Amino acid sequence: MPHPFRWAPADGERHASLDPAPHTGYPTGLVVKTLCERQLQVETGDIPWLWNTCPACDAKAHEIAQKPVPPTAGAR
Ligand SMILES: [Zn+2]
Repeated sequence: MPHPFRWAPADGERHASLDPAPHTGYPTGLVVKTLCERQLQVETGDIPWLWNTCPACDAKAHEIAQKPVPPTAGAR
């Protein structure tokens, strides 16, 4: 199952966001709300993917990824 967040390189670091995105990822210039509570403009290309991961987004992303899926209400 895919995680609900996506990686969004912006402002010199690789952030993550819960904003909806096409399966190809965020387009260049799109402003997303990152997991570290900032509004940043996504940059794409080869270089941004080599940036360091934002520690705050990394921690949040791990938190989200490890959260068990809540059972569906009423399902048996
Ligand atoms: Zn971040």
